[in-house]
Amino acid sequence: MCLCYLRTHLVGCCRKSCWVCFATEEDDRDATWVQPCRCRGTTKWVHQNCLQRWIDEKQKGNSTAKVACPQCNTEYVIIFPKVGPMVYIMDVADKVIYKMCPFVAGGIFIGSVYWTAVTYGAVTVMQVLGHKEGLNVMERADPLFLLIGLPTIPVMLILGKMVHWEDYILRLWRKHSAKLPFFNYLFSDEYSKNMRIPAETAPLSDPLCATRVLCGALILPTIATIVGKLMFGSVQSNFQRTLLGGIAFITIKGVLKIYYKQQQYQRQANRVIVDFPSETQM
Ligand SMILES: [Zn+2]
Ligand SMILES: [Zn+2]
Repeated sequence: MCLCYLRTHLVGCCRKSCWVCFATEEDDRDATWVQPCRCRGTTKWVHQNCLQRWIDEKQKGNSTAKVACPQCNTEYVIIFPKVGPMVYIMDVADKVIYKMCPFVAGGIFIGSVYWTAVTYGAVTVMQVLGHKEGLNVMERADPLFLLIGLPTIPVMLILGKMVHWEDYILRLWRKHSAKLPFFNYLFSDEYSKNMRIPAETAPLSDPLCATRVLCGALILPTIATIVGKLMFGSVQSNFQRTLLGGIAFITIKGVLKIYYKQQQYQRQANRVIVDFPSETQM
């Protein structure tokens, strides 16, 4: 065997070649090389600069992200130059702040919702009891009781609004409507023999509906006060007047809503799909 051949073969085999840019040792004699993983053969060697650039691309700006060799999956060991204590403290502080921010923001959000609820509760108490009496009651009450009691006012209003009591009454009534001739007179049931049962629409299914519940619930005390003043002006106690106003409003609205829903239900139940008008008829 020719010695010459052996030499070129060996050199060819061990010649460094960068797996990023494919350049060899002869192409750039000053470049720094590194073998950062378990790879053997053609992907063993890589330029320090090429690998740095490649890792930058993989990390996408997150300089602490771990990066591994795409061939052998060995995690690259990246050593940073030593830093002074000042930079180290800043580094730690940066990480702590980064991790804490979502919690702080969440806390601020919950806190502001809570205080809004407290304010709303206080305003409602003053509205229902009258300005002076409401203030008196709140001044006399235990602060802890106020801090828990006031925010439950809007919560209770919203929960109350979410109870669709009209639907229950309607459903009950549809079941037993045959036994109540008076209501049947109110809603003429002329088609009831071959009536289909329409599909139920799910309440609270979209965000718009949720805002409606919210607005309706929070405006209820104001409406109750107004209705109370209009309908029960003779009642002396602010609280009783507002309570009566609220009950009257809810009852009237409930009856109207039941009527409207039943009308809609009947329209749905009695709808008819007509034949497509054929050309001979036109
Ligand atoms: Zn390279
Ligand atoms: Zn590798």
